[in-house]
Amino acid sequence: MFKKILIANRGEIACRVAATARRMGVKTVAVYSDADANAKHVAVCDEAVHIGGSAPKDSYLRWERIIEAAKQTGAQAIHPGYGFLSENEEFAQACQNAGLVFIGPPPSAIKDMGLKAESKQLMEKAGVPLVPGYHGANQDAALLQAEADRIGYPVLIKASAGGGGKGMRAVDKSEDFAAALASCKREAINSFGDDAVLIEKYVQRPRHIEIQVFGDTLGNYVYLFERDCSVQRRHQKVLEEAPAPGLSPEMRAQMGLAAVAAARAVHYVGAGTVEFIVEQRQDGSMNFFFMEMNTRLQVEHPVTEAITGQDLVEWQLRVASGEPLPLQQDELRITGHAIEARICAENPDNNFLPATGALNVYGLPDCVTFERGAVRVDSGVRQGDAISPFYDSMVAKLIVHGDTREQALARLDEALAQTHIVGLATNVQFLRMVARTDSFAKANLDTALIPREEAVLFQQERVGLPLAAAAAVAQTLLRERASEGVDPFSRRDGWRSHGLVERRFEFDFGGTHAKARLDYLHDGALRLTVGEGADAVTGSLEFNDTARGIDLQYAGQRTRATVYAQGETDHVFTPQGATQIVAIDLLAHAGEEQDEGGRLTAPMPGKVVSFAVKAGDKVSKGQALAVMEAMKMEHTIAAPVDGVVAELLYAPGDQVTEGAELLKLSAA
Ligand code: ADP
Ligand code: ADP
Ligand code: MG
Repeated sequence: MFKKILIANRGEIACRVAATARRMGVKTVAVYSDADANAKHVAVCDEAVHIGGSAPKDSYLRWERIIEAAKQTGAQAIHPGYGFLSENEEFAQACQNAGLVFIGPPPSAIKDMGLKAESKQLMEKAGVPLVPGYHGANQDAALLQAEADRIGYPVLIKASAGGGGKGMRAVDKSEDFAAALASCKREAINSFGDDAVLIEKYVQRPRHIEIQVFGDTLGNYVYLFERDCSVQRRHQKVLEEAPAPGLSPEMRAQMGLAAVAAARAVHYVGAGTVEFIVEQRQDGSMNFFFMEMNTRLQVEHPVTEAITGQDLVEWQLRVASGEPLPLQQDELRITGHAIEARICAENPDNNFLPATGALNVYGLPDCVTFERGAVRVDSGVRQGDAISPFYDSMVAKLIVHGDTREQALARLDEALAQTHIVGLATNVQFLRMVARTDSFAKANLDTALIPREEAVLFQQERVGLPLAAAAAVAQTLLRERASEGVDPFSRRDGWRSHGLVERRFEFDFGGTHAKARLDYLHDGALRLTVGEGADAVTGSLEFNDTARGIDLQYAGQRTRATVYAQGETDHVFTPQGATQIVAIDLLAHAGEEQDEGGRLTAPMPGKVVSFAVKAGDKVSKGQALAVMEAMKMEHTIAAPVDGVVAELLYAPGDQVTEGAELLKLSAA
């Protein structure tokens, strides 16, 4: 076994690798950029080397510098994590040349699986089932059109060099093919520097089911079963689970053997994932087809660890140091069911716009351990840390395990309810709602689950105004009690002398203005009225501060609320959901108008991808004007009002800073 390894990554995966290394007595070296000087991954490793500026190309992608750091610190091997250099064959080769072990497959296997078209040619030879399609070298537009017509619509055009859900176009009919091909090629050359495409039949009601494989240097292979990653948005995974609901043991074995054949065909070593697209036929039968192989440890590997009881990073380290696979196929078993949720800094209500900022409150569910258990959190950040615009928006992964899928689902819901993040927008409540949809609860899975459930996902009130107001009032009274030592309302003798028989509050709740009145009754009880007129809710308010939040009873509802005040905003978390309510200071803000003016500015630092309009165009409110890319995601900038485009201030490809004005719009 190695004595010391370098981890060429950051965030949760660097921390994840470091945890196993520590348990195995292997020393770790972190590398870090300027932005990460105080990051958690630096703190959890034994040593750390600064490798450059914040942008990935100035640090985490500088492989000469990383190899130098390994040499300097005496590390024997490099773990690349995922993303960054993990699927870079040149880097894997350079490690070898420098006498370092690359903890991953041989460079030749990375190359063989690097391009989707070439890898399919290899898989065809190995007898792995492929989606009907075209993956030839000839890229003549007329030939591609003829191939698409032959395959039959709908088809999917994919950039051979694509990844991360980018460079794909679905085409419904022959007439649309030429335009889609041109746009796909444009995106492919811009994003991947290679415009070769392949064409696949668009599989109906598809499920994404992938197989975890492992190989060792002695030529042994096993598969560690499957993960269902069908719950996606924009072809990116949101929830992942293992095993795949409804997969028969026969089909599991067939897919496992096909995945092993794929790995064997490229002399694979280490952890890899073979992704299949699964067609669900009307008659209930399922067909699987090879999509691609990811030649690295995958983000969602913990669900496999949960159901097999194995530590895949330990397997990686053992195999890389020349040991045989820890277990053989017939020694591997599935126990229970596991689900992973990716917690991201993003705003689901604003088209999943990534968010940056400080994690002022970062409260994680109970029994947070890296070790396998009912609830596991893999996190690369701590309370107080910032999510910077330089890297992707994933904050943490929440993994739950139960005897059955129902139990895992219940644990997921509870664990998400206990995840309290304040300071920036996250998808935590959105994940809860996805997990609660009928489709997910009944395992009616396919890649269109999120769009299909849109109505319940985006328009549901999580915690209503009465409960939010009650929590905010209770929090205010508790705060006053703490600072004054005594709550004037609770002093049976004192309240009259203060003249306080009623008290008024005003709130902003999701854009609506709300009034509340608190009455102190003769028997010492509190009565709270929220709202006015016919909509008003009235009831007695009771609360009790406990170590785990405020036990709250109001208007027939009983809950435990945790309230975090940030300025005038109270962030309220309850088992039912979370919400925000803003206390309006009745004296301070008299007459102040909020500036709703939507300036056409970059919401964060990034790159301008394209403009959908040109100077002189008339646009209407809500119309898409420009597309930006930041944090591995594309964002559409829409017109805030009707108007005429006066001037475009940047060109596609330009790098822009946060707040930069992208175009000028004059009101119509
Ligand atoms: P998958 O999500 O299937 O494992 P992706 O190709 O979408 O595969 O990316 C894997 C993960 O690698 C992403 O979810 C992300 O967390 C990480 N990643 C990829 N590129 C970067 C990057 N430039 N910076 C930080 N993390 C990255
Ligand atoms: P990437 O390299 O971006 O991960 P993939 O080829 O793995 O690209 O495809 C990403 C996602 O796109 C899949 O998980 C699936 O949701 C969808 N997809 C890919 N191929 C097809 C297909 N032939 N039919 C339907 N959906 C597909
Ligand atoms: Mg993929």
